[in-house]
Amino acid sequence: MSSDILGDIKSPRYVHAVSEEIRKLKIEKRISIMHVCGTHEHTISKSGLRSLLPENVRLIAGPGCPVCVCSSAEIDLAIRLATEHGVILTTFGDMYRVPATGGSMEYFKAMGADIRVVYSPMDAVALARGNPTREVVFMAVGFETTAAPISAAVLSGPPENFSLVTSLKVIPPALRFLLDRGATEIDGFILPGHVSAIIGRKVYDFLAEEYKVPGAIAGFEAVDVLLAVKNIVEQVVSNTQPVVSNLYTRVVKENGNEKAIASIGRVFRTGDANWRGIGIIPDTGLYLAEEFEHLDARKKFGVAPEKAVEIQPGCLCDKVILGEAEPEDCALFATTCTPSKPYGPCMVSSEGTCRARYNYRRVD
Ligand code: SF4
Repeated sequence: MSSDILGDIKSPRYVHAVSEEIRKLKIEKRISIMHVCGTHEHTISKSGLRSLLPENVRLIAGPGCPVCVCSSAEIDLAIRLATEHGVILTTFGDMYRVPATGGSMEYFKAMGADIRVVYSPMDAVALARGNPTREVVFMAVGFETTAAPISAAVLSGPPENFSLVTSLKVIPPALRFLLDRGATEIDGFILPGHVSAIIGRKVYDFLAEEYKVPGAIAGFEAVDVLLAVKNIVEQVVSNTQPVVSNLYTRVVKENGNEKAIASIGRVFRTGDANWRGIGIIPDTGLYLAEEFEHLDARKKFGVAPEKAVEIQPGCLCDKVILGEAEPEDCALFATTCTPSKPYGPCMVSSEGTCRARYNYRRVD
């Protein structure tokens, strides 16, 4: 891509021009558009995009932060492996401070557990190779984007002292769940650029064909998100057969990354998953396939998730994750709950809705 094009994409004039085009559309009813991507919320909050839209166009943050929807019971389980089974527990930095039932990984590390942050699953594999007398467990949290490198790590032939606690989830059946649930007003979806780079555009066609809901895959510049909003609003007001548009063609292909899809398909099988604040969503979890079950830490150590506190008293993350409440509706927002002392999961990662709103809130 030429620097000229990049210059245009980042230009505030371009953002305002698209915003003006949206304002000129004849919108006669409220249009609610949900995104399911923490990075999109980051862009929206950072650029103040909500303030550039007509009052009757709402941008709702859905369950797009993988750290936020990682079940507390699964974090507790991973921590138990470190505290009771003496493993070296590794995870991504975003997970380190997420509150779970008895405390975060950060808390248990301070209490003496061997818990370490890694930058990639291959770092955890390397740690296992370098510590052959210790068991090394990697807590794998994320959506399809993360599942791809994790499947590559599994296929790389890790040593016997390496295993995984998986809390991986897939997006398309979660969209189906949100629409079937019907509790949140959703007139269209802004679809996640990173996830779509793996799974492609075509897998979302069911939104338009079965549910008559338009979608637009968007990149992460402010104008990318606004162009997706414009696309969806135009589809809604024209009242024609909806489609799922790919507005991120510089990265997303019709059928996605076929090599990554094959790798994920070989390493994982799908099953029901527990989404924090939501509960079980059918067929949204990725679990190690039979061929790789020897790498499953749950089986290796004979542990299973136990009853957990998923949402702490007073925290509205269950509603924030479903787009039924705004972070500012929570009495703890920016008072008891801040990024330096997160009370709920949505305040930890930069992909969390509460964290994004906190970082870019207006302080008068
Ligand atoms: Fe939960 Fe904190 Fe967000 Fe409130 S501000 S909903 S306590 S994460």
